[in-house]
Amino acid sequence: MSLDDDPLVRRMRPFGTTVFAEMSALAVRTGAINLGQGFPDTDGPVEMLDAAVDALRGGRNQYPPGPGIPELRAAIAGHQRRFWRLAYDPDGEVLVTAGATEAITASILALCEAGDEVVCFEPYYDSYAASIALAGAVRRPVTLRPHRGGYGFDPDELRLAFGPRTRLLLLNSPHNPTGKVFDRDELGLVASLCAEHNVVAVCDEVYEHLVFDGEHIPLAGLPGMRERTLQISSAGKTFSCTGWKVGWVCGPVPLISAVLRVKQFLTFVNAGPFQPAVALALGLPDAYYDGLRGQLGGKRDRLCAGLAQAGFDPLRPWGTYFVTADIRPLGGVDGMEFCQSLPFRCGVVAVPTQVFYDDVDAGRHLIRFAFCKRDGVLDEAIARLATLAVTGN
Ligand code: PMP
Ligand code: GLN
Repeated sequence: MSLDDDPLVRRMRPFGTTVFAEMSALAVRTGAINLGQGFPDTDGPVEMLDAAVDALRGGRNQYPPGPGIPELRAAIAGHQRRFWRLAYDPDGEVLVTAGATEAITASILALCEAGDEVVCFEPYYDSYAASIALAGAVRRPVTLRPHRGGYGFDPDELRLAFGPRTRLLLLNSPHNPTGKVFDRDELGLVASLCAEHNVVAVCDEVYEHLVFDGEHIPLAGLPGMRERTLQISSAGKTFSCTGWKVGWVCGPVPLISAVLRVKQFLTFVNAGPFQPAVALALGLPDAYYDGLRGQLGGKRDRLCAGLAQAGFDPLRPWGTYFVTADIRPLGGVDGMEFCQSLPFRCGVVAVPTQVFYDDVDAGRHLIRFAFCKRDGVLDEAIARLATLAVTGN
């Protein structure tokens, strides 16, 4: 290799800076309201913050145990039982990770040989494609398309995506960026295909508590699925602490042991003083979880109405804190160009979703807004977006 060559391994070269970092930098540069990268602009529950301060001051600043501190693993198992009626043994079936991101990456690296195929829905969360590439595996995306005001997929396309090389099915429900919440029939088909092809399911459920319509159904709870499913979540969304990077993965012992073998060489451990704080937060009463959902549901309605008024065609999400919108009614053609010019046109940042598709054309006209922001911030963004149609900017 000469020094002029790109030193980056070939399999990572298609991946540039993440669109979230790019768009957040654009927001900082232009002073625009950032409805791009998904992070709340308020803090999580004060009891949890106090518990983190106590842990920091109380000497819990060294390496925690590899699988996570026992109290957090117990709290995660308790949460799975309480909300989803899924029983996991905190010793061996629960693993704490550096955010959901590490859980996903470690799962893929642990379970895929080079050349194995991973079925996922597109648009996909960007780290999926990069982790699949790192493993030398191959992604087999099935496209979610706008359908009856939400998003749907063609069952035959899903059936055809499974084959002899399929090793994993990667499912994100509630789904970022579309806000789709997979229903029982859709999950039933996914489960039957996993069983038929002897495939492990990796389920990213970081938005499990942000469902406004329908219900969150963990794939692991479907008949026969627990033994072949890794269920992943994170404190970031549920407790508004995306910077803490406390995630976890639950599953049967053989799968969790495999993931731990890889995870121990990625970060080893993380977030020592935050782990007891998240353990406390997981045990908060139902009122906390209901309050979070209620608040974000209100923000969903607020932003969807504002986007429609501004001339977009929003696709109302059932879950997550994102809404996608069609830019064509406003004369937009390409979401990337639209998002790059939006801060200059009206002082708002959004994220183009075409970067989350292999079939770029399927998402070219769709962009994503985050609504996990204070109402005043959303109202100001809506007022600014409303100038697009008026001025034809
Ligand atoms: N999966 C999805 C679908 C996400 O939206 C995110 C973003 N937060 C993650 C995983 C990563 O979660 P974490 O920040 O806990 O690593
Ligand atoms: N999950 C967040 C989102 O979808 C972003 C996380 C990140 O920046 N990697 O906006």
